[in-house]
Amino acid sequence: MDIAARQEIREQMKDLNDQALLRLITLEKDEFLPEALAIAAEEAESRNLKVLTAKEYYVQFPDELESSGFCQRCLNQSFEQETPLGFSLFGIGTRLIPSKDECDICRSRVEDLWWCFGSPVRRMARYRVSADDSTHYRRIREGQE
Ligand SMILES: [Zn+2]
Repeated sequence: MDIAARQEIREQMKDLNDQALLRLITLEKDEFLPEALAIAAEEAESRNLKVLTAKEYYVQFPDELESSGFCQRCLNQSFEQETPLGFSLFGIGTRLIPSKDECDICRSRVEDLWWCFGSPVRRMARYRVSADDSTHYRRIREGQE
């Protein structure tokens, strides 16, 4: 990364408000090059901002969690989908089965959609369910559980 590029990034970081800067450092860090993150961290330090964990970020900015019902980590690992419906006839069909996995930040839960033949035989999909709205499901991407 050359000096001009670094300068450009530095200017952009200066334009961010405190929340946007902390959001970048805390929640969006995987999307940025290490050099850009280092510049963001310098900017935060010059403003005397404490770098937050994801959990602390949502304590400080609760509105952001309330608007979607999911934290950034849970949003990243899943996508919007209609509420899945279980259906079964004489024990054969699909069933939603909650798992114990609860996010420590947004408290969303994981539910699995199983194909059942009397008992569950095959997992078909995995979802995150909002803690505030039990009808709000997001499907977890394969390999991101
Ligand atoms: Zn979460």
